[in-house]
Amino acid sequence: RLAAGTTRFCAGIVSTARHVSIELKMADYSNKLYQQLEQETGVQTGYMKTGSISLAQTQDRLISLKRIASSLNVMGIPCEIITPKQVAQLHPLINIHDLVGAMYVPEDALVSSANVSLALATAASRNGVQIHERTSVSHVLIQKGRVTGVETDRGKIQCQYFVNCAGQWAYELGHSGDEPVNIPLHACEHFYLLTHPLKEPLASSVPTIVDPDGRIYIRNWQGGILSGGFEKNPKPLFTEGRNQLEIQNLQEDWDHFEPLLSSLLRRMPDLEALQIMQLVNCPESFTPDMRCIMGESPTVRGYFVLAGMNSAGISYGGGAGKYLAEWMVNGYPSENVWPLDLKRFGTLQSSRTFLRHRVMEVMPLMCDLKVPRWDFQTGRQLRTSPLYDRLDAQGARWMEKHGFERVKYFVPPGKDLLDLDQSKTFYKPDWFDIVGSEVKCCKEAVCVIDMSSFTKFEISSTGDQALESLQYLFSNDLDVPVGHVVHTGMLNEKGGYENDCSIARLSKRSFFMISPTDQQVHCWAWLKNRLPNDSNLTMEDVTWKYTALNLIGPRAVDVLSELSYAPITPEHFPSLFCKEMSVGYANGIRVMSITHTGEPGFMLYIPIEYALHVYNEVMNMGQKYGIRNAGYYALRSLRIEKFFAFWGQDLDAFTTPMECGREFQVKLDKGMQFVGQEALLEQKQNGVYKRFTMFILEDHDTDMDLWPWWGEPIFRNGRYVGKTTSSAYSYTLERHVCLGFVHHFDEKTGEELVVTTDFINQGEYEIDIAGQRFQAKAKLYPFSSLFTQRRRKDEVELSGYQRE
Ligand SMILES: Cc1cc2nc3c(=O)[nH]c(=O)nc-3n(C[C@H](O)[C@H](O)[C@H](O)COP(=O)(O)OP(=O)(O)OC[C@H]3O[C@@H](n4cnc5c(N)ncnc54)[C@H](O)[C@@H]3O)c2cc1C
Repeated sequence: RLAAGTTRFCAGIVSTARHVSIELKMADYSNKLYQQLEQETGVQTGYMKTGSISLAQTQDRLISLKRIASSLNVMGIPCEIITPKQVAQLHPLINIHDLVGAMYVPEDALVSSANVSLALATAASRNGVQIHERTSVSHVLIQKGRVTGVETDRGKIQCQYFVNCAGQWAYELGHSGDEPVNIPLHACEHFYLLTHPLKEPLASSVPTIVDPDGRIYIRNWQGGILSGGFEKNPKPLFTEGRNQLEIQNLQEDWDHFEPLLSSLLRRMPDLEALQIMQLVNCPESFTPDMRCIMGESPTVRGYFVLAGMNSAGISYGGGAGKYLAEWMVNGYPSENVWPLDLKRFGTLQSSRTFLRHRVMEVMPLMCDLKVPRWDFQTGRQLRTSPLYDRLDAQGARWMEKHGFERVKYFVPPGKDLLDLDQSKTFYKPDWFDIVGSEVKCCKEAVCVIDMSSFTKFEISSTGDQALESLQYLFSNDLDVPVGHVVHTGMLNEKGGYENDCSIARLSKRSFFMISPTDQQVHCWAWLKNRLPNDSNLTMEDVTWKYTALNLIGPRAVDVLSELSYAPITPEHFPSLFCKEMSVGYANGIRVMSITHTGEPGFMLYIPIEYALHVYNEVMNMGQKYGIRNAGYYALRSLRIEKFFAFWGQDLDAFTTPMECGREFQVKLDKGMQFVGQEALLEQKQNGVYKRFTMFILEDHDTDMDLWPWWGEPIFRNGRYVGKTTSSAYSYTLERHVCLGFVHHFDEKTGEELVVTTDFINQGEYEIDIAGQRFQAKAKLYPFSSLFTQRRRKDEVELSGYQRE
């Protein structure tokens, strides 16, 4: 039945204040859509523009709100930071004594969610959509990896596309087909109370209150109030074995709701005498990373998913539907939806225990403060390197990516370990000096970083099939001599980066491909769907077979040559080279002269059974060269100061090599067509509409000022031109460096214009960190003079890419 799921009990708050930019865009679209729906369909949706006020009880919370406010403002969504007194003026019942400020979004709204569903269904029917109510899908029919139909309790229906938008049942429905589709979500109980109308009924226009520090939200409801929240100890819910697909109000649990009720009474003390009408309890689905799930299954063509709304389904619904529809019709949505793509997950996030533990962390996180570099605490130590215990014993502090434990930094002996684990701040963190010394060691001696989480594929063939296919799917020329490593994009038809990787030619007919950690599912699916179905061509995911050690620094060459007895001089081992070598007793180590940072050094891909041996050998030999362990924070600082873009942070499916200064990694004249070539040729002809730029903060005090993170608005001559994508403190420049994209919007029409080098160079820039602007110097080339010269040479050779 329409609106018989969670939507039936939804509190109806449409809120645009979101941290993730794509979620913010979806909510904005929904708000605008719902506003016109009643007029369009004649179905009353209860749409009421009340505005919303998010309260801050602490300075840190206010900073977090200011960051969101900056994002909303540059998107043209009205929003202001207001004082507690202004809160009291906008809402008569709010206790403001413990507040330090608030964020007011006047265009946020309330709707009746069930009626919005009916209105959307009405509009769809008018456009020819058939709706079969009270019809249950038992499983999805799949043939040769494609959806062909669904089996329902009223018979079979043939279809080319199927969208699993079954809310909390999506997980089980995903597993009910001939081929399982993993949809990692899990429901938790979610409560709100309803009161009778107040003595003096609350005006219907009164703004919705969100009090994250108090873990509650409060809206007007028929002259009384509706108030729910996100408790610290959520109750996960299992649905196995229940086939009823309509949600009933679950059991009341007043003991469980008590902390939220106390919080409500603190925020609205006048409610003491209030008459409670009902405590609503309804399941809602949460996902492992607090972001909803959309997109096509990596294994079954035509099987789409839209589920796991993390308590914001009505806010996202309109926008999410739009992007999914575009995806199905055009093959790709009009915005970068990678943060929501089903393919960011693998089977590893689908264990019931993992989901149960993770959603119990996620639900409280809806209200917790999101400071830079926070990590999930549950579902940890799932994927680890064979060196995990060794590194842990040496003071490693861990973070997680795609289920893999990666080292952030190493706490030196004697430091207060507990204290260091609490480094949750918007300001200078307490690991500052520790990471600084790791960076220094990378610059002056040698460090080793375990980077085993990288995705690794081997692609080989009996004849030329591997080379021919890869030449078509990648933009750089892979027909290089055996032993060479090529940095290349895996582009889509629009020239955007579906992946950014390094490929080593192991032999005439085999290639070793290294991709970012979270590419494991996406890249596999992309290649599987495009490689010819030829038994002479094989692709294997060998991620788990190799431990990867990054030896960074000027003395890396000494360590390696002593351990391998092989000449590692630039003539024998030039840059971007790959050789199988023995290191210590271990044979078959794939050594590549790259470090992903712009610093000298080598990546060692070691068959896992040799990992500990090789690590021990490297550390022992490295002693005399001052070797030490380092982590990803040092790597991040090094790569950002060198202006290295990383996929998933700086690069995405909407960014081309021309836009991020990587023309030199594209071979337009490699003698055959490749995916994205036409789009790149057009950019070469007409110029680009955004340009990857490096910003050095000028008047920023590292000790006293807020640190940039990513997503900060960039202003050129006082006008908004784009956002940062990553940032780090550069210990070399002793300044903060931000990377981001600069656009050129016409001052009168707002139309996007070509971005030229002059446009970048002739502007005065500021970066907005939580509402405070800092002057920044823009650069299109990194500082290292050697690197700069090479890049410039490449630019000259490929001159004409940029019409100036
Ligand atoms: C108490 C509460 C308050 C909330 N308040 C808000 C709010 O104020 N603002 C906001 O934005 N969000 C809110 N949410 C979240 C929002 O309600 C949900 O995110 C949203 O309703 C989820 O919609 P959905 O379509 O994904 O799932 P559902 O609404 O659960 O829909 C799933 C549908 O799939 C059908 N189905 C399942 N399996 C099958 C099958 N095998 N065959 C056929 N049909 C099937 C079900 O019958 C159901 O109709 C709230 C949630 C709760 C629980």
